[in-house]
Amino acid sequence: MEEVVIIGSGPAGLAAAIYASRSQLSPLLITGNALGGQAATTSEVENYPGFPEGINGAELTQLMQQQAEHFGTRVEMDEVVEVNLRQHPFVIKTYSGTYRAKSLVIATGVSPRLLGVPGEDRLKGRGVSYCATCDGFFYKGRTVVVVGGGDAAVEEAIYLTRFASKVYIVHRRNRLRAQKLAQERALKDSKIEVVWDSVVTEVLGEEQVTGVRIKNVKTGGESVLAADGMFTYIGNIPNTKLFEGQLELDDRGYIVTDRRMHTSVPGVFAAGDVQERALKQIATAVGSGAIAAMEAEKFVAEMEGRAYPERQG
Ligand code: NAP
Repeated sequence: MEEVVIIGSGPAGLAAAIYASRSQLSPLLITGNALGGQAATTSEVENYPGFPEGINGAELTQLMQQQAEHFGTRVEMDEVVEVNLRQHPFVIKTYSGTYRAKSLVIATGVSPRLLGVPGEDRLKGRGVSYCATCDGFFYKGRTVVVVGGGDAAVEEAIYLTRFASKVYIVHRRNRLRAQKLAQERALKDSKIEVVWDSVVTEVLGEEQVTGVRIKNVKTGGESVLAADGMFTYIGNIPNTKLFEGQLELDDRGYIVTDRRMHTSVPGVFAAGDVQERALKQIATAVGSGAIAAMEAEKFVAEMEGRAYPERQG
């Protein structure tokens, strides 16, 4: 029987693990298939406190994992395939085992939203990518298209200029959504060209991406951009399929929690991007992970009639 099981290895799950292990709960953290979560696919994290020069996302999450393990977290490289939250202790099934837990912290994060245009699925891994940190290196001296206008698209477009000779940002409006500093940097970069008011309607190529067909949403005009790769950053969808019908989700599928990360099921907490929050940042994910772990500790203590050291806030 586990005191607390944490699902997810992004900053929220790892922060929960650090706090839960320091509370001597010896948490079990099940990583999921994307070790380090979305943060680990971020090339350069410049707004997480403590790293004035910025830090690579994968490096940051590895440090968090080391810290969690140092305090006694057991990390299981596995994927959860089924949960039963209707009974207590909760039952968590992975590919290799079944766990029973007194409390659960869900930090399953989000996955990239797909464009859903012809050619995208067929050319995945052959020029279609959702991770510049993972694949950017293959585009040395080549041309790439980045789709989207948010923080991820703009920051990863800047990162891609390290390798690519030309980076097109295809954005459906005439204004970027990303933070001002990143916008200014991108718009000043001679390698970056923004294709405004445009959407990708098809990814072209037989064996490998050779370009994208784009449509101007204002004029309706179509054209082809020759390119060797396409990186899509058009937002995310929450990884909550496992919890459908068992936890309250909002209309976009995010887990609904209160301010203390309690979900609709007592003893189940959610933290990080999978939980509805106004600001989706590593800093806020870490904060919510810490709260979730403390609340899990409190839940287990109360359940067992033990005294719980009251904390403020
Ligand atoms: P996002 O902020 O939701 O931006 C998605 C972008 O894709 C928007 O520009 C949107 O256009 C566009 N888009 C959405 N659906 C589209 C479609 N079907 N076709 C074409 N374009 C489409 O997503 P994100 O950039 O992945 O970021 C996710 C969250 O993480 C955000 O809260 C973001 O602030 C945060 N984040 C923060 C940092 C950082 O602080 N350094 C870095 C990365 C991510 P519109 O603008 O027209 O809506």
